[in-house]
Amino acid sequence: MQPNDTAIRWIEEPKLGLSGKMYLPLFLQGLTTTTKHLVSPKVTVNYPDVEPQIDNPLIYRGVHRLNKDEQGRVKCVACFLCATACPAHCIDIIGVESPWPDREKYPESFIIDELRCIFCGMCEEACPVDAIELTSFYNLTGRSREEMIFDKEKLLSVYDATKDQEPMRSVQHGYPTPSAGAKQSTTAPA
Ligand code: SF4
Ligand code: SF4
Repeated sequence: MQPNDTAIRWIEEPKLGLSGKMYLPLFLQGLTTTTKHLVSPKVTVNYPDVEPQIDNPLIYRGVHRLNKDEQGRVKCVACFLCATACPAHCIDIIGVESPWPDREKYPESFIIDELRCIFCGMCEEACPVDAIELTSFYNLTGRSREEMIFDKEKLLSVYDATKDQEPMRSVQHGYPTPSAGAKQSTTAPA
């Protein structure tokens, strides 16, 4: 495209007055924000003596869980979208052929390194079947690095511990739970 192309719409730079040139309005805006913060009530929480209140646990980005379907099987279909989307490269999946007729693959191994995770929620956003979600568990501790590496069983146990207080997103929003396929089977190794 050339600069004289008729498809280009040129925009004139807006003229600034004296106060604009001196950044006066922006300076006053910044000062107002700082003053508001100076006089507003402080919200320091004496953690761990006082547990912080999480206003909405359903949108909190804490420890991950791997969801199960109605038959107790891991919902994950080993599509690797979460691992691809993860900016911290902390998800490691080994996908193998599924023993069930309603999906091609399932995760033989699913590992998240919670120490590398930045809790951005991209994995949750990327998942097409609501299999991975972040919970409101925030006080994650461990005595070694190994303890902070969550495998499939640990991630599924987080689902068991949180499913009643924090239903799956698809259930919360009232739309049908995405599943791997229409057919269902009975075996549930997970
Ligand atoms: S929350 Fe973000 S950093 Fe953590 S596993 Fe998911 S995508 Fe990766
Ligand atoms: S958790 Fe979701 S996005 Fe990640 S591999 Fe499993 S189905 Fe795919």
